[in-house]
Amino acid sequence: MNAPERRSLARVSAYSDEREAAVKIPVILGLAAVGLGLHAQTIRVYVQDSVGVCPADLKRATSKAAALLAPAGVCIAWRHGGPKSGDPDSLRPILVHIVSDIPEGHNLEALAFAQAFEGVHITVLYNRVLKTGPPHVVLGYVLAHEITHLLEGISRHSATGVMKAHWGRVEYYAMRRGTLVLSNEDIHLIRLGMEARELQPLIAVAR
Ligand SMILES: [Zn+2]
Repeated sequence: MNAPERRSLARVSAYSDEREAAVKIPVILGLAAVGLGLHAQTIRVYVQDSVGVCPADLKRATSKAAALLAPAGVCIAWRHGGPKSGDPDSLRPILVHIVSDIPEGHNLEALAFAQAFEGVHITVLYNRVLKTGPPHVVLGYVLAHEITHLLEGISRHSATGVMKAHWGRVEYYAMRRGTLVLSNEDIHLIRLGMEARELQPLIAVAR
């Protein structure tokens, strides 16, 4: 009944924002270093659904998330369940766990949790997603938002677009119209983050 009020206050991610201000300078410096030589990089994203999301909603949501990230050169290969042993993919996959809610002790406003610096795990709180809008729409944006956190590899939010810390009426309206997208800054940061991510297996081998 009070969905609009909750929607106007909905926070997307829950993690410490303490270091957000500290990353602004490298963000600005990094913008000049990207833009050339872009090639799409495939990121495997495994979705473990412990809620039983309607398959049609999940399919539309993952398609939407993939479309939102495509301008940044991200090609998402969606997988169900978890990675199999002996997986030939040398790059770290992203693991999404969809749960109904989260135990106490976390931010109560959040729709999802991402461990930006760890770069692997995302938890989506599906009951909260359902309270904010059509799941095939909002879940797609939540997935895109959290995957962006992991690919950027830093804890920050943007003033506009998918990576706003809080989504309000303007953002939900734009979602329905399909006009809420990644900011140019986030597209650059994703590209930078993927370059760093691509190098990580080589660094590990060199040790
Ligand atoms: Zn966030």
